Amino acid sequence: MSNWRLIGQDNVVAFLARSLERGSLCHAYLFSAPEHSGKTALALKLAQTLNCTGNEPPCGGCEPCRRISAGIHADVQVIGLAVNDDGKSKTEVTIEQIRAINHAASMPPYEGKCRVFIIEEADRMSTGAANALLKTLEEPPPNVVFVLTTSRENLVPETVRSRCVKLKLASAPRTEISRYLEKDLGFSAERAGLLARLSQGRAGWAIIAAADDVVLAERKDNLDRFAEALESGFDFRFELASRLATRFGKSRAEIYRMLDQWLSFCRDLLLVKLDIKDEVVNTDYMSALETLSSRLGTAEARSIIGSLSNTRQYLEQNASPRLALEVLMLGLPLLGGSLKKSG
Ligand SMILES: [Zn+2]
Repeated sequence: MSNWRLIGQDNVVAFLARSLERGSLCHAYLFSAPEHSGKTALALKLAQTLNCTGNEPPCGGCEPCRRISAGIHADVQVIGLAVNDDGKSKTEVTIEQIRAINHAASMPPYEGKCRVFIIEEADRMSTGAANALLKTLEEPPPNVVFVLTTSRENLVPETVRSRCVKLKLASAPRTEISRYLEKDLGFSAERAGLLARLSQGRAGWAIIAAADDVVLAERKDNLDRFAEALESGFDFRFELASRLATRFGKSRAEIYRMLDQWLSFCRDLLLVKLDIKDEVVNTDYMSALETLSSRLGTAEARSIIGSLSNTRQYLEQNASPRLALEVLMLGLPLLGGSLKKSG
């Protein structure tokens, strides 16, 4: 079990390892957890364990384990949202992708012991794709395991969900993520601590952010933009809403991320107001949070949190992005003075 090496996922790993030992592994699993929590990493470890030729699967060093890590093992496929010719991501997992999987699943393993198909963002399967998969899940071929992953389990069709064993990945403890970043990856205690807090239990996110400065730089831009919006009048806010709406058309994920970061900042604001500072996530913005906390009432902070949650929900329900973002901007309290990041 120690070979799985997944931060904070001891329970699900123990469950899967026990099932493997007892020969009671099922043919379909649904791994559910927020984005970048390690769902695909766990699915790949399972695929390695099933195909490993080493002494202690998943050994990580044998030919099958290495080919699976490198994404070149013929029997292990990961599919998700494909990319269009124009470089934009498709919005659905298509029936053609599932048909290709069904076809491959009907054949015996090519080079290993077991075929493993990992379907990311299973909640985004088109109706046709879900129905096509359903047929295979109802009559599973031998030596095939399906792992579906999702961060929105309730949007996976019930017919598909009911044919999978559902496993919820845990939120990894902050201390474990921080220790891994510091001891195993060699980051400073300060950076490891901040990223562990910001990750909200998503170890994969912390590892990506630690390795790529762009992640924290984008967050800084987003938080600075929020601070600027709070300090500005309606002209600036309308213009910002318009720019963000255009951006949303190009990359929804970017705008969702921004709203989540604004939300996290405002939750911290409320925590500072309630004097629960130990729980603050954006610790590098503590002085800005304290300044803002003295200028905004608790009710105002709560109201901004409500508006941000609503905006995200409206956008997910395909409301006009421009309208949703304008309503958000108009509803923010008007402040004067300055708000700067600390340090
Ligand atoms: Zn191996």
